[in-house]
Amino acid sequence: MNIELIGTGSIGAVQMSASTLIDNKILIDLPNGIVKRLKQTHHNILDIETCLITHLHGDHFFDIPFFMFEKYFKKATNITKIICPKGTKDKTKTLFDIGYPGEWDKVSKLAYVEFIEFEELNKEKITDELYVTSKIVEHGKLKPAYGYIVNIKGKNIGFSGDSKLCDNIFDIVEKSEISILDMSVTEIKTKAHMSLYDIKEICKKYKNKIIIATHMHDYTREKAREEKIENLIIPEDGQIINI
Ligand SMILES: [Zn+2]
Repeated sequence: MNIELIGTGSIGAVQMSASTLIDNKILIDLPNGIVKRLKQTHHNILDIETCLITHLHGDHFFDIPFFMFEKYFKKATNITKIICPKGTKDKTKTLFDIGYPGEWDKVSKLAYVEFIEFEELNKEKITDELYVTSKIVEHGKLKPAYGYIVNIKGKNIGFSGDSKLCDNIFDIVEKSEISILDMSVTEIKTKAHMSLYDIKEICKKYKNKIIIATHMHDYTREKAREEKIENLIIPEDGQIINI
């Protein structure tokens, strides 16, 4: 299995906003600018069968219109499932109304995307090889915010989405062989994100698990590198991890 960290930064970082691609066909989050980055790195948007959206902050879903335009321009005939929190389709339509008034009806008809809005997923079959479990996480004022356990070809990959350290983060890590976790900040206590210290705690508790940090401010990335934590990968944008 091929895990590609397309974006690994927070909104203020030099690197792209956090987004991960699995086996070229499952994309976790569609942040601002990620469609262009996928094109720059020679990916074909039409290969993406499923998108999972963790929550409705701009750096996680603002590129849905550009994803739809790309499929429309390329005359896609394959459906992409967008697995997303309730309200995602309406908010995407609003983005069209603001940025491309009058285009929604035509593009949404020919982009072949299917919005699957959920409240809870419990090992839900998405494709023959993909099953998804959602976990409510704690991301400050934004509700709901989800983490995911993605089961692909029998292996579990965990995603925290954006969250402070909470019970469901431990649950995600415990049930997954490899987890991609929000490590935005270096501050000790935050209401909306995990810090380097939270990630250190997780790495210490689960020594046999691989943790990949993402959603990093630049200063967090630098500080984390100095710490040299054994089972923590601090990726650059575009880094590929095979498991
Ligand atoms: Zn967020």
